[in-house]
Amino acid sequence: MCGIVGYIGSKNATSVILTGLKRLEYRGYDSAGIALANGSLTVCKKAGKVVELEKAVKAAQLRGTLGIGHTRWATHGAPNDVNAHPHTDMENTIALVHNGIIENYAAIKQRLQKQGYVFRSETDTEVLTMFIHSFYTKTKNLEEAVRLALCEVEGAFGIAVVSTLEPNVLIGARRGSPLLVGVGEGENFLASDASAILQHTRNVIYLQDDEMAILTKDGYTTKTIDNETTDSIIHEVEFDLESIEKGGFDHFMLKEIHEQPRTFKDCFRGRLLASEGTVRLGGLNPVLDKLRRAQRIIFTACGTSWHSALVGEYIIEQLAGIPVEVEYASEFRYRNPVITPDDVVIAISQSGETADTLAAIKEAKLKGATAIGLVNVVGSSIARETDAGIYLHAGPEIGVASTKAFTSQLAAIMLVALYLGRTRRLSQRDGMEIAQAIERVPEQIQAILDHSSQIQSIAKKYAKAQNFLYLGRGYHFPVALEGALKLKEISYIHAEGYPAAEMKHGPIALIDENMPVVCIATQDEIYDKVLSNIQEVRARNGKIIAIATEGDTRIAEFAEHVITIPNTLPMLTPVLSVIPLQLLAYYVAVERGCNVDMPRNLAKSVTVE
Ligand code: GLU
Repeated sequence: MCGIVGYIGSKNATSVILTGLKRLEYRGYDSAGIALANGSLTVCKKAGKVVELEKAVKAAQLRGTLGIGHTRWATHGAPNDVNAHPHTDMENTIALVHNGIIENYAAIKQRLQKQGYVFRSETDTEVLTMFIHSFYTKTKNLEEAVRLALCEVEGAFGIAVVSTLEPNVLIGARRGSPLLVGVGEGENFLASDASAILQHTRNVIYLQDDEMAILTKDGYTTKTIDNETTDSIIHEVEFDLESIEKGGFDHFMLKEIHEQPRTFKDCFRGRLLASEGTVRLGGLNPVLDKLRRAQRIIFTACGTSWHSALVGEYIIEQLAGIPVEVEYASEFRYRNPVITPDDVVIAISQSGETADTLAAIKEAKLKGATAIGLVNVVGSSIARETDAGIYLHAGPEIGVASTKAFTSQLAAIMLVALYLGRTRRLSQRDGMEIAQAIERVPEQIQAILDHSSQIQSIAKKYAKAQNFLYLGRGYHFPVALEGALKLKEISYIHAEGYPAAEMKHGPIALIDENMPVVCIATQDEIYDKVLSNIQEVRARNGKIIAIATEGDTRIAEFAEHVITIPNTLPMLTPVLSVIPLQLLAYYVAVERGCNVDMPRNLAKSVTVE
């Protein structure tokens, strides 16, 4: 997902927009651009990171108090200067930035070409710009032109638009892609994420799908694209500036890894009733009846969230005995899943804006299922689209590779599982035991973090490896997948996660003396089975990095390296075993000189299909 910032007021718009874009850069960063619209339109755009844009902007000495800016994550056309946003019409009257995809852009483009429009870029965004312009020549009113164009557009958009002919107006609109209005005094803002404008205002209005905002310096109105005025509710942003800064760490990812003792706790704080062995989940109140009577639970998610859903499958089936399925949202929405009104569909997404997950939820609701969201970003689309939900309260996650959101998702899942277990077959005593174990997890995470230097030295040793294999069984199979994903994302080393016993059915062929194999082998009922799998790797000269339980005296004999984690209930171990894997991926990537917080080709939240 790209970033959008718009400003109208009396300050220097360039600096407001550039600072905002830097805050959003982690979301998409293949190119960036800015347009100011006081008197005439000045546009500056550059392939590469925001710092390239900053240099160009300085050289061009852009000045003005009305402007829009963008960081792009290319969908249509290569990331180069021409395709970068903002896009303008041929007469340089309007400028537009866009997040999302205009699905019917080809048909619109053909129509416009017949009318004599000439296109410079390969983007769908330029088509939308020209399309708005085609209405503008008739209406002479930017708001009306934007509105009429959007009525014909299919697909997803968050946009900000300015015109040289209306230097007192800034227009925004959204469908599918997030956009909010920042309400200031004598100034107003548009942004795809509150972090971009937080240093100017905490008061925001989250726009709804098919809603537009018309901003002036001193006021704003909101309406639907069908021209009906809407009530806009001002929310106060909960997080502060500190939470979106690195706070002394080299990278956001490392900071977020280290935040996990607190963020895990923040998710269960006030919700876990340890003395009763149960939980109170206010956000689920509207659906508690449905949830208690659910015949089946279906998790739908993408990427790291899909891994936490897999852990959820194991835990809920174990504690509550309810059948659970886990679906990639992108698959779920395009097949014809069998869903009944007795099903509860749980969508997991850090951003709450993941396009596929959002669409999957809409599909499930259409078929009568109850929809629950486990999301981090308050007010996000999935939070709004679902019938009820649990916020993760992990604070902004800026590192593209998700870390603290994963462990907070696990915390939220445990709360749901404990609730369901207690309403079904779990005794109060067992509930209490689980609740007490959950309460100990934050200090156990901290204990692992305190031994980061050991993981750093292991990372140094294997940083030049071409491949990695991650093995785990039971609760640790999803953790193996997550460990491999982290390494791929930020170090670009090919890595695969496998259920340890499946290795014999294929991946074992890859093992030789150059293959580091990370095995999660904590002491639980399948420990001995995992040890056998480790032997199989050893017999083929693979290099074992074992994640084991503290006090394990046997494992050292079989492994090159042993990283220990504190003892907890098997169902809680994924929260602990994933920590060394996050650190390992981080340190390997740093050792290889990779850009940890902004890995190539990735965007933080995927708001396009
Ligand atoms: N589809 C547009 C493009 O490729 C917008 C991409 C984005 O969301 O950054 O330029």
